[in-house]
Amino acid sequence: MGTRGRLSVEEYVNGILSGNRVVLSRAITLVESSLESDNLLASEVMERILPHTGNSIRIGITGVPGVGKSTFIEAFGNEVIQEGKKIAVLAIDPSSQKTGGSILGDKTRMESLSVNPNAYIRPTPSGITLGGVAHKTRETMLFCEAAGFDIIVVETVGVGQSETKVKDMTDFFLLLMLAGAGDELQGIKKGIMEMADALIINKADGDNMQKAKNAAIEYQNALHLFPASYPFWYPKVGVCSSIKNSGIKEVWQMIVEFVFNSKKEEFFEANRKKQNIKWFYNAIDTNLHHVFFSNSAIAQKIPDYINWIENEKKSPSHLAKELVEQFLNMKQ
Ligand code: GDP
Repeated sequence: MGTRGRLSVEEYVNGILSGNRVVLSRAITLVESSLESDNLLASEVMERILPHTGNSIRIGITGVPGVGKSTFIEAFGNEVIQEGKKIAVLAIDPSSQKTGGSILGDKTRMESLSVNPNAYIRPTPSGITLGGVAHKTRETMLFCEAAGFDIIVVETVGVGQSETKVKDMTDFFLLLMLAGAGDELQGIKKGIMEMADALIINKADGDNMQKAKNAAIEYQNALHLFPASYPFWYPKVGVCSSIKNSGIKEVWQMIVEFVFNSKKEEFFEANRKKQNIKWFYNAIDTNLHHVFFSNSAIAQKIPDYINWIENEKKSPSHLAKELVEQFLNMKQ
């Protein structure tokens, strides 16, 4: 054991690569930590495990609260585990950022999956910005891949900006919906529908069965108005019942088919490379932002600038440029 209860880089790396869940959790805690020393340690571990990452199917799942995400993921998880896979479930939950409470985390979720040795569930880290969560979720995903999980689900509430972040880190994006609730009622934005590789109507059971099937036909027609997402794939529509466990296998088969076609068309790896390049640019933004705002001389000047904007009607963009120039001169 190192200082402050930390392990050595070697211990983290060996633990993760041997699939040790306790070590995996502790490594993820380093990623989520707000201590710079922890993040540095995490990135050293990341460097070492990176060659062992990438061997999973990364699935983004979104839908409004109550649509049945956790019930679906539980059924889906059990399905893929039966096929011999290991699944990790990560969540991006912007609500926890604002209120301190969480839409995704309040209830007991995924009860059977959470005790299954072939599943690993990690709730959203709290107290960091959406951009920060996305970055940390990405790193967490890579740690899980190195630990041998072959399916990573990244779950998000389908109401905000987090969906684009999830789209940018996954191979397949699945939107869960309800029949008869209307798109506006469900708070699903058209932009989110356009990002979906599959739109699955949940709760297709009992009296709701026919409604779900009708809704599926309507959505299928609506989706045809959008351009095809990729040359080899038109977004698919399906129905399922997560509590009755019907249609779940079909969703998995759909994803397998997507991945197969995506690899055949040499899109799969190309997309991941593109995502990495985007991540790189985002990380530069985040780093520059951090270096700038954590500079104490800049922090001291900012109140004056705000005052000039509020009281002297000076141009914000001109002032911003001036402050950045001052910062650059300080650095030299
Ligand atoms: P989440 O907020 O999207 O994670 O939704 P939950 O998984 O917590 O589900 C919300 C409610 O819908 C719960 O009471 C579930 O039991 C119920 N539910 C989820 N899936 C189904 C389904 O396929 N059929 C029916 N009838 N109810 C479901």
